[in-house]
This record gives sequence, structure tokens and C-alpha cells, in this order.
Amino acid sequence: MASVVLVEDDHRIRAALVRALSERGHDVVASATGMEGLNRIVERSPDLVILDLGLPDIQGSELLKMVRAVSAVPVIVATARDDDAEIVRTLDAGADDYVVKPFSAEHLDARMRAVLRRGQGDQADGEGTPPLEVGDLVVDERSRVATMDGRLLDLTRKEFDVLVYLAARPGTVVSRRELLAEVWRQPYGGADKTVDVHLSWLRRKLGETAAEPRYLHTVRGVGVKLVAPEL
Ligand code: CA
Repeated sequence: MASVVLVEDDHRIRAALVRALSERGHDVVASATGMEGLNRIVERSPDLVILDLGLPDIQGSELLKMVRAVSAVPVIVATARDDDAEIVRTLDAGADDYVVKPFSAEHLDARMRAVLRRGQGDQADGEGTPPLEVGDLVVDERSRVATMDGRLLDLTRKEFDVLVYLAARPGTVVSRRELLAEVWRQPYGGADKTVDVHLSWLRRKLGETAAEPRYLHTVRGVGVKLVAPEL
């Protein structure tokens, strides 16, 4: 069971989610506006936040930035449509995962469990582990800092997790299915763009493109690998 703050302006969705999550043993507090939701999050320090992106008083992505300024609480955003640009923006603004409406309570609950499990893992991982080095890329799991040529990479939480996973197995081709299972702790759903979205952003932050990769190489139909570029 988890303490949850739900921010959702649609009365019917809000009521249905409060009921469904409460039945699953979660302690849910719901807000109909973004600013009230932010107050609840600050007051309660919940284990998890579920945030509707289409709110009457503030854009969900703006609210997410405000939440991130005060809290590292895991956030799952709910988007009304499968809009890649919007999803990328919110993941980049610090969301841990997203669900596309309409979604079932079972689906949301599975995502919640994955995000919460991941949060627990973060605390235990990386104790006393030396930084991973792949060419000029250095990834320090303990301090959660990655540098390229000594330059700090500004990575989201998930981008960092993906980079750690790949940097720990340089030269090994890792499938999307494996990344989804090991980094997101989710089963593979064929249409899921989560991994691709994060890989494309990670690639951009490494300063390269899919057409001219240096470190992050896509192996078509198989997966990706991280390798040190040849001199
Ligand atoms: Ca809404």
C-alpha cells in the first residue's frame, strides 16, 4: 500500500480512481486543481503522485516542474492522448512514467508498483560501486552523475538509469524488452514507445544522432549497445 496524491480535474475519473486505488489498499488524497495538488504533495510527502496533464489552472508539465523543485516523489502522468512530444516533455520535466487515457485501474496499479519498486531499488543500488567508464564517458552510479569529456550531462532520472544499465555492459546489444524489464520493471507491450523516447533523448544529450552514432548504436531489430568510439 502506498500514500498517493491524485491530481485530476475530471470528477468522474477522479472518483473512479480514488475508489479503485482505495480498494487496492492505497491511501489516496485527490485534488481537482494543480495548485491544490501541489499543496497536498508538500503537506503529505506521499509515496507517489498521479498527475493529469490537462488541468484547469496550470499546465501539468509546469506543475511537474514545481513539484520537482520541492520533491523527488515518483510521479506518473496521465495524458489524454498518445502525443509523443507531450510525453517527451513531461518525462524530461521529471515524470517517472506515463499512462495514456483511457487506462484501467489494473494498468495504473501495475505502473505504480513498478515505479515504487524502482524507487526502493535506487536507495540500495550502487553502494561503494566505482564509476563506470566507456571511452570519455564516466557514469557514477553512487552520486548519479554522468560526464562526457569531463562535461556534466544533464540527464533525467530514467535517462541516467538507462545509461547506467548500458554502461555496465559495454559492447553488449541490449534489447528494448530487456531495458523495459530491467530499468522500468515492466513487461514488454509491443506499441510501447517509452524506451525509444528515452533513448532518443539520451542520444541527443550525448551529443550524437542516430544517423551518426558515436557511443549509442542501434542494432536494427535487436536493440542498442553502448561502445567507446574508435580513435
Ligand atoms: Ca483533465
